[in-house]
Amino acid sequence: MKSTTQEIRGRLYVVFDELFHPDGESSSRGVKLLAKWVVCPRCDGNGAHTNPAIDGHGITREEMDELGPEFEEDYFAGVYDVTCHECKGRRVVPEIDREENPADLLALYDYTVEEDAAYAAMVAAERRMGA
Ligand SMILES: [Zn+2]
Repeated sequence: MKSTTQEIRGRLYVVFDELFHPDGESSSRGVKLLAKWVVCPRCDGNGAHTNPAIDGHGITREEMDELGPEFEEDYFAGVYDVTCHECKGRRVVPEIDREENPADLLALYDYTVEEDAAYAAMVAAERRMGA
């Protein structure tokens, strides 16, 4: 789901390239939804997080002990940090305003989010099966 943010007269909008209708047949292009900036949940507003290649599954205490004190020091010093994948270092992300948008547009948005998640889950499942 591709989108860009736009500020129009001091208000923040997320413009979606394409949102799908729940009938599964049609879609709307260039849909604008009012949004607000919220602290990025991925990096907690740091603008960076540890490279998921390093701790994508989380590092346990045991693993940390195995990796040694030098690694631990570097880890907490941010040596393995990368610019946040979610907010691209902006520390905030746009969140769709649930109150300020018309219900029919929110329905398209919700449906498209669901479809995207279902598609991503299917792709991941296929990858696990070796497809
Ligand atoms: Zn972030």
